[in-house]
Amino acid sequence: MSEHKQCTEYDTQSADRYHKYKGKINRYMDLAKRVAIQSDFPDYRHGAVLVKGGSIRNTAHNKDNFCSFGKRFQKTHGGKTTVHAELGVILGLDRSITNGATIYVARVGKLEDYRMSKPCSMCHAAMKHVGIKKVVYTIDDRTVGSYKL
Ligand SMILES: [Zn+2]
Repeated sequence: MSEHKQCTEYDTQSADRYHKYKGKINRYMDLAKRVAIQSDFPDYRHGAVLVKGGSIRNTAHNKDNFCSFGKRFQKTHGGKTTVHAELGVILGLDRSITNGATIYVARVGKLEDYRMSKPCSMCHAAMKHVGIKKVVYTIDDRTVGSYKL
């Protein structure tokens, strides 16, 4: 599994839904994959795409530097707060852009296959804070998950 701790105790408004790679999901995940490949990390390569009103507003991959914004949302101190892709894609943006937006987040493996990329509790809280309405995340090469915040 990924460095992302699996947490099922989010205060999500909806249960996870599952989808196949097709249409806009496929297009945005393909972009998220291309972004993820540029990650600072060799193994845990995540990419995120922020979409609002049908247009791409920002992209980011995870980075190996400290993130004070993320630290605000980390419940217990688990060491260095790095910039996860979901944080990078919202950092520095005006609330008018993030509010009501959807984030697509992909993790790619060594063979550029899709891996589990469900946001961790820190990213979940940060995305909720800036008004993200929905997250779509890769599970494997066949399935994508989503939930509303
Ligand atoms: Zn995270």
